Amino acid sequence: MPLHDRPRRRANIRANDPRLRVWNDKPIRSGDYVVYWCQANRRAIDNVALEYAVKRANELHLPLIVYEALRPDYPHASARFHKFVLECGRDNARVLASRGIAHGFFLPRTAEQAKGVAAKVFARAALIVSDEHPSFIHPWQNSAGARYAPCTYLTVDDAAIAPLALIPAHEPQARTIRPKLLALLDEWLAPVVLVEPQVQAPSVEWPFDPLDLEQLDLDAAVARCAIDQSIAPISDRPGGSRAAWARLSNFLAHAARGYDGARDDPSEDGTSGLSPYLHFGAISARSCALAARDAVLPKPALDAFLEQLVVRRGLAFNHAAREPRHATYEAVPAWARDTLAEHASDPRPDAKPPATLERAKSADDVWNAAQRELILRGRIHNVVRMFWGKRIITMVKRPRDAFELAVRMMDRYALDGRDPNTYAGVAWCFGLHDRPFPERPIFGTVRSMGVRALEKRFDVSRWVESIPPLKKK
Ligand SMILES: Cc1cc2nc3c(=O)[nH]c(=O)nc-3n(C[C@H](O)[C@H](O)[C@H](O)COP(=O)(O)OP(=O)(O)OC[C@H]3O[C@@H](n4cnc5c(N)ncnc54)[C@H](O)[C@@H]3O)c2cc1C
Repeated sequence: MPLHDRPRRRANIRANDPRLRVWNDKPIRSGDYVVYWCQANRRAIDNVALEYAVKRANELHLPLIVYEALRPDYPHASARFHKFVLECGRDNARVLASRGIAHGFFLPRTAEQAKGVAAKVFARAALIVSDEHPSFIHPWQNSAGARYAPCTYLTVDDAAIAPLALIPAHEPQARTIRPKLLALLDEWLAPVVLVEPQVQAPSVEWPFDPLDLEQLDLDAAVARCAIDQSIAPISDRPGGSRAAWARLSNFLAHAARGYDGARDDPSEDGTSGLSPYLHFGAISARSCALAARDAVLPKPALDAFLEQLVVRRGLAFNHAAREPRHATYEAVPAWARDTLAEHASDPRPDAKPPATLERAKSADDVWNAAQRELILRGRIHNVVRMFWGKRIITMVKRPRDAFELAVRMMDRYALDGRDPNTYAGVAWCFGLHDRPFPERPIFGTVRSMGVRALEKRFDVSRWVESIPPLKKK
């Protein structure tokens, strides 16, 4: 957007903004540059933290440098996620170069090579800005970053559309958070305005060999890293902001008009497929919501899309922000854990060891197809995911083990895994954000879901046949 064409309302940081959080009590000092450590929202446009970092650098008459890294030792590191993140980095390198902002991407092959490098980047900084995020490795990374930063370390919450701080309660259900989130849209659903850097990009002496992402053979670079190479990249879901915007435009031009009807049928390709891009921050929920609103969709379709993007996603982020144990079985409500425990010794004729289930070898062909889709394509359709998660409860003896297996498999294989939506989605299968239902074997009063719920929505046999077999090892 040209700078003269500024909208009246904007999502950029304002005075006393609830999205800002200072992590240490060190001062802003004289230094060579301001650093934006891009760790959760891997995009170079529509990024509130980045524009805030440019603004602060301008005020300090310093250049801004953008530091991106991809370590090999984050949980479940694999070729699938590494390739996607490098593709995000390649788009960022292009956009930042065109904006005159220095960008360094660090790809250590081993954990040993990664040690101490961020501290060296920070050593000459006047101020460090990074991404606030309530889940996965980000809270830990931010507290570590704040400790070894020599100056003020602050984060910007650009995770959901409205600031997470504005909903301080741990919301129990969609119906309680919906009116709050929808009311906040009036104030917070606005575009981010680009801030022009006033000090030219310096030639930075990075304490690592920065990647030339335009020229790099990404597959070869990924193959050199000490990560799980058996989980392959997903070729029809390339990473990066360009692919994210192309997917959003395509969705809005076609499937979005019938989203309220087609979103329950996995054979229809009736959903946006944006979750991996939202997960890695290649696109913001804000951009998706603004574009959907501007696309003049039929009201039922727009409302249904915003229900998922704003309300369900917002509920998952609220859960992650308010419950530090959100990725564990402890985050399942007590009533649900109690009823599942009462039924833990109910007969489970389909029980199998976790490793057998992970190889898609359960007694249930529909569940196996969902598991194959997860392994091969890095995704499962939402309706099938609900069935997949519920069915695991019937196939693993202890409910806690079933929960942990579901989280581990989603985190390991799904491109959009390791996300607040992952943990809320799995926990929903165990009763989170839900209410008690009439008592049944195995589930107790937790809502159950069988294959009949799928058959009411789509042609299950045809869908099962469409998922290829796994390669024999
Ligand atoms: C057991 C289980 C595990 C799940 N694991 C994940 C996960 O790892 N990552 C993930 O992003 N989502 C997860 N979900 C939620 C949902 O299945 C996916 O967000 C959705 O299928 C993504 O496809 P899409 O981008 O085409 O969604 P669309 O239907 O196009 O929706 C647009 C966006 O809204 C959000 N959204 C949609 N449905 C939900 C939902 N039920 N809860 C929260 N947000 C939603 C997502 O950000 C999605 O990209 C899980 C759900 C369950 C039941």
